[in-house]
Amino acid sequence: MWHDQLMVDHFPEWVREERPLLLFIESAHKAQSRPYHKQKLMFVLSAMRHFALECHQNGYPVWYESTPQSFDQGLIRLLDKHKHWKLYHMEPNEWDSIQALKQVRSHTNRVTTYNNTFFLADIDEFKDRIKSGWRMEFFYREMRRKTGYLMEGELPAGGEWNYDKENRKKLPKNLSIPATFQVEPDAVTLEVQHMIEDLFPHHFGETNSFAYAVTSHEAQRALEHFLHTRLHSFGPYEDAMASGHAVLFHSQLSPYLNAGLLSASMVCEAAIRYSVQHEIPIASIEGFIRQIIGWREYIRIYYHAMMPEIRTANYFGFTEDLPQLFWDADTSLNCLRQCIKPVIEDAYAHHIPRLMVMSNFSNLTQTDPRQLNEWFWFSYIDAYEWVVLPNVLGMSTFADGGILASKPYVAGGNYINKMSDYCSSCTYSVKEKTGDSACPFNYLYWNFIDDQRETFQQNGRANFMVNTFDKKSVEEKQAIKNSAEKFLKQLPRNWSP
Ligand code: FAD
Ligand code: SF4
Repeated sequence: MWHDQLMVDHFPEWVREERPLLLFIESAHKAQSRPYHKQKLMFVLSAMRHFALECHQNGYPVWYESTPQSFDQGLIRLLDKHKHWKLYHMEPNEWDSIQALKQVRSHTNRVTTYNNTFFLADIDEFKDRIKSGWRMEFFYREMRRKTGYLMEGELPAGGEWNYDKENRKKLPKNLSIPATFQVEPDAVTLEVQHMIEDLFPHHFGETNSFAYAVTSHEAQRALEHFLHTRLHSFGPYEDAMASGHAVLFHSQLSPYLNAGLLSASMVCEAAIRYSVQHEIPIASIEGFIRQIIGWREYIRIYYHAMMPEIRTANYFGFTEDLPQLFWDADTSLNCLRQCIKPVIEDAYAHHIPRLMVMSNFSNLTQTDPRQLNEWFWFSYIDAYEWVVLPNVLGMSTFADGGILASKPYVAGGNYINKMSDYCSSCTYSVKEKTGDSACPFNYLYWNFIDDQRETFQQNGRANFMVNTFDKKSVEEKQAIKNSAEKFLKQLPRNWSP
């Protein structure tokens, strides 16, 4: 069993009828390969152990192996020992798992692969178009037609394909924010927690606040909780950020979708059903469905189309190490402190902190995007290479040179101020443009536009930024360059994962 395909409903029919031996391998080698957030390890291992127990209770014989070896070495050793075993498995998503299986296949022909049923789109159908820069919006429309989700005949429900423009509201003061879904860790999870603290004490993050679902049943409760408490306001406040509220109206379902505790169709169909019964605004249900059948499926195909060359992508050629604040959130930039703290505590932040605060800062400080990608990979509960790499090297850092995103995601302090309450409690002033007390995003942004002017000038949607910079007075331009140079020189950096 792959660690990210943990649902009996996705077993082929013959497996459900014949109940063959199910093989699970926990590889310490894999867990050590990067300093994965302790909660991420807890989540993956606890979910795998729970699933093995569930299968056992349902009458499946189970072989559960813990090994210090890599996954392929462990598997080859077992297949050598048990000559009568034939291995059947669902197509994995991760490049390294695909390569590991190639190793196993070169050793024995007793391996059969069947299609991955956790996703909705066929990789081969879209791969070439996505590789040549076909945008997500057009892919998404095709997915709406294919699935029939939110369609009225040939037309999109409500008349528009996309309600993004309505979904950029700042949180009103006094809006009540629902509590997040929490699960009390059981004995299995606590045992895994002790093991992680023992074996990986120096890994990123903390374990004490762990409250994630670890079974498909609990993940379905998390889905219900989201539908009842947050779907209604998902759309309008999708881009909003607030101190002390990492989740807001987001679903926090990505860990469960990515581990195979929920599937895309299950989540979309439940959400659409709920939206019809409860008159959920079209902008909210459309926004939510777009994330799953649009972005999530597109990102997966992009990964398979672009691997393995994309791993080294670095369009701007940035070589600076990751800023130290990504490790400890110890910084006077309040937005970064507010956004990174929940990652250390719970391995989660929603899309806008990831994109418009953390990645934006990484870009503006000329940080090596591959280090940022590694950081996102080991720090987040929902990170697997197939989903983190396209989001970081494709979307948020423009490292692929514009295949996935139409322009680099960079912004000054005004954007963060508009979408959050962070700036009012910051030691820097978002209104000031240069100097020691000015918001660093302000001058770093213009410094970036000037440094990367060729990229922006070639882009019809972004060349106005260069024109705006060029219209500034000589003194203002000099002040921007001086402030940026000083900030970048003094920024502590650290790359020792
Ligand atoms: P919601 O806002 O509730 O969205 C619903 C679902 O849509 C998510 O659960 C997720 O499955 C899917 N989704 C939305 N956007 C994307 C996207 N861009 N790519 C893939 N799926 C998407 N997502 C991951 O699952 N794993 C990652 O490692 C990851 N790394 C990211 C790194 C960066 C720099 C950025 C900008 C985005 C990243 N994302 C990643 C995408 C997105 O931020 C998360 O899927 C989302 O924040 C998860 O929280 P949620 O479940 O509350 O999402
Ligand atoms: Fe962030 Fe600048 Fe706002 Fe401070 S003033 S919170 S650094 S955007």
